[in-house]
Amino acid sequence: MVEDFRARVREWLTAHRGAAREGFAHGDIDVAGARHFQGLLHKAGLTGLCWPTGSGGQGLSEQHQRAFDEVTAEFDLPTEPFTIGLTMVGPTLLEMGTPAQRDRYLPPMLRGEEIWCQLLSEPGAGSDLAALSTRAEPDGDGFVVTGHKVWTSRAQWADLGVLMTRTGSGAGTARHAGLTMLVVDMDAPGVTVRPIRDMAGREVFNEVFLDDVRIPAGRVVGERDGGWAAVMAMLAHERSAGGAQLRASATAGVVRRLIDAVAARDVGHRPEVRQRLAELYVRDRALELFRARLDQETVAGRPAGQRGSVAKLAWGGLDRLVADVTSELLGPDVVAWLPESEQDDGVDHEHWARTVCVALSTGIAGGTDEIQRGIVGERLLGLPR
Ligand SMILES: Cc1cc2nc3c(=O)[nH]c(=O)nc-3n(C[C@H](O)[C@H](O)[C@H](O)COP(=O)(O)OP(=O)(O)OC[C@H]3O[C@@H](n4cnc5c(N)ncnc54)[C@H](O)[C@@H]3O)c2cc1C
Repeated sequence: MVEDFRARVREWLTAHRGAAREGFAHGDIDVAGARHFQGLLHKAGLTGLCWPTGSGGQGLSEQHQRAFDEVTAEFDLPTEPFTIGLTMVGPTLLEMGTPAQRDRYLPPMLRGEEIWCQLLSEPGAGSDLAALSTRAEPDGDGFVVTGHKVWTSRAQWADLGVLMTRTGSGAGTARHAGLTMLVVDMDAPGVTVRPIRDMAGREVFNEVFLDDVRIPAGRVVGERDGGWAAVMAMLAHERSAGGAQLRASATAGVVRRLIDAVAARDVGHRPEVRQRLAELYVRDRALELFRARLDQETVAGRPAGQRGSVAKLAWGGLDRLVADVTSELLGPDVVAWLPESEQDDGVDHEHWARTVCVALSTGIAGGTDEIQRGIVGERLLGLPR
């Protein structure tokens, strides 16, 4: 059954390579093309694979999802704009959203009609998220929100965001108790998005300013003042087997591409090159097998829980290794890159340069390596604080 499904996915993706390409422009995402491609995936029954059918999903098994991720790693797909929605917000709404919220938000998320972002971090609150100061003041049957968020990935494309706000006093132990998660329309009056350019030349994340933004009461995810539980659930999904799976597939695609690029340069016979590629392959396979194990245990009723932090640490390390090996083996091609339109040597300089530049971010985004090590030490190994 899963093998039939795998074959169907490969056949469909091969037939729709052209549509996938239209989701990219000049090495980055073309949002309209990406939305169109996501709509095609949905029509083909290839979105929300493990979600319940009542919420627009396909009701399939984790093994189907894994087969899908493995096949998609072989293709360049413009699905990045939908990952926050599909892998973090969607599962959180399935877990703690109201029926009305699930009906309203999940189907358009699956169809690629609504892109989501996560408005958590602030200039004074990253690892220590409970220090956040964006305030949601009660106003009639809703809230008025004022604050400043930062590092909000893809906010410039987003239609909707999950927004962490302070509704309680924030004093002492009430820090965690007084938080509320809200859904905000990114085009609501008072929301301003300002892109931040990163060192790879991309505008991936943004600052978001909220000035007296009105949000209705029906937009609370989970409990009012109980947003800590909602955000912990969302971060667990981000670091979970599903998140690890997604990232591992993306990295597996890069590893394969690097092996091909090296082979094309006729240096694959050198012992030092072979050694580095073998090291990369082994680490990639180890992560792959670890995630397969987490999958199987999840299916058997033992969710990954905090072990998602182990997976996140592993893929952060793998991304850095990919960057090191890429720099060593491709040399100047990685640093001296021209825009795609100005190169004529057939080498995808921009792709490799960006691979190296963004590698460090895996160990920061979604909770830094130090924070993951703290979780592993204290909650998995039972070490003292
Ligand atoms: C590519 C990328 C995308 C991102 N996307 C989003 C997004 O979409 N939405 C969003 O809200 N945020 C996003 N972020 C922000 C990210 O969640 C934060 O950068 C991260 O949580 C760290 O917070 P900080 O930057 O404030 O660093 P800080 O928390 O100030 O940490 C600084 C340093 O101190 C260390 N440190 C802090 N506390 C501890 C501790 N208790 N023990 C040990 N070491 C500690 C950290 O590990 C780090 O090395 C993104 C970040 C990146 C890089």
